[in-house]
Amino acid sequence: MNRILVSGGGPAGCIAARSAALNGGRVCLYEEHRRIGEPVQCSGLISKKGLDSIGVNYSAALLNEIRGADVHAGGASMRILAGETKAFVLDRANLDCAYAEAAEKEGVRIVLGERAPLHPSGGEILIGADGVFSRTAAANGFPEQRRLVVCYQREFTNAKPADRRLVSVYLTKLSPGFFGWVIPINEERVRVGLGVSKGGNPKRQFEKFIGKLNGVLDGAKPDTSLAGFIPLSPRTETVSGDVMLVGDAAGQVKALSGGGVYFGCSCASIAGKVAALHPENLWRYEQAWRREFSRDLQVHGFLRGALDAIPEFALGLAIRAGGFLGADGFLVRYGDMDRPSEIARAFREDSASRLGKRFNNVASIFTSSELGGGSNDP
Ligand SMILES: Cc1cc2nc3c(=O)[nH]c(=O)nc-3n(C[C@H](O)[C@H](O)[C@H](O)COP(=O)(O)OP(=O)(O)OC[C@H]3O[C@@H](n4cnc5c(N)ncnc54)[C@H](O)[C@@H]3O)c2cc1C
Repeated sequence: MNRILVSGGGPAGCIAARSAALNGGRVCLYEEHRRIGEPVQCSGLISKKGLDSIGVNYSAALLNEIRGADVHAGGASMRILAGETKAFVLDRANLDCAYAEAAEKEGVRIVLGERAPLHPSGGEILIGADGVFSRTAAANGFPEQRRLVVCYQREFTNAKPADRRLVSVYLTKLSPGFFGWVIPINEERVRVGLGVSKGGNPKRQFEKFIGKLNGVLDGAKPDTSLAGFIPLSPRTETVSGDVMLVGDAAGQVKALSGGGVYFGCSCASIAGKVAALHPENLWRYEQAWRREFSRDLQVHGFLRGALDAIPEFALGLAIRAGGFLGADGFLVRYGDMDRPSEIARAFREDSASRLGKRFNNVASIFTSSELGGGSNDP
């Protein structure tokens, strides 16, 4: 049996390792830090549907339930509020620990405080889950990550979020290439952050951004802060010889929101299964994850590009027009924060909807067969 080595004990590494072990693999996971989950570089907002699909109990990491969002741009706002929980705010360190425990339970050996080998030897398979600046990718000649954003986030206590069930998203020129956010953890604690394209200074922009957050931070006290990079497009190859890349190392991230846990873990689960069951045919992983997720990642990329290209005042006008046309109600009904192609499909199917009629042509771009489709069985 081939030995499977996993480099990195983040969510993607733990899920890849667990999946390989579940499929009969002999797995060793290396995490360079002495503890799983640290340092945290995440806002911890993940869809309920995505978390459920990963298949590991996450209750120990739950902090808050989210039902929707207030979207702000150019002086206009739109509230999208669903009747049920759409996402959770989590303690990312606890989530990573839950995933690592689940992997250990299936027989994965976890080595802490040690780096994984950069190259597999003697029939080993190496899964690179070592994050956005993957050494595994660099050492094995994978193509570079092309689009990165850099983010800065700070927690505040004694804050006054408008509604603890709603995240706030700010499409502002202070965050070129990304956006600003306020994520409530409870009635008085929030995570406030902002991202900018690589090369920008997110901390400087962040200080300006918080000065414009009317009300939320009045009298609030700053607490912990973090910074980190997010890849916004997948690498053009994620398998080479006996090496596979998963998660941020592969760029399996939603370009619209920067969320990487759901797609990264979903792809990692496929990678672990292929490594254990088809060690001679690792390319099956590349085929399977692209068949399942490429279309949605492309739609995220398209929407990110569109938002980056439109000036803030025009986004404000679009929000006002969307409110007039009932886009908020449509998004409550059909919105999917992970898989926007589902919204496009709904546009097509909901011919009775005014928006459906107007945007039918746009939707057909995203649901065309050229963008893939089919079975996910590796
Ligand atoms: C500010 C910010 C906010 C974010 N908010 C969200 C959010 O709200 N929701 C969401 O879904 N995503 C969010 N993301 C993205 C999310 O954090 C990542 O997509 C996710 O962590 C990727 O998981 P991963 O396992 O691929 O990589 P990582 O979580 O980066 O884990 C990689 C691990 O590999 C270890 N490692 C590195 N090199 C080696 C080596 N050579 N040997 C052994 N170990 C090694 C590292 O120590 C690390 O533990 C955010 C990112 C940032 C920067």
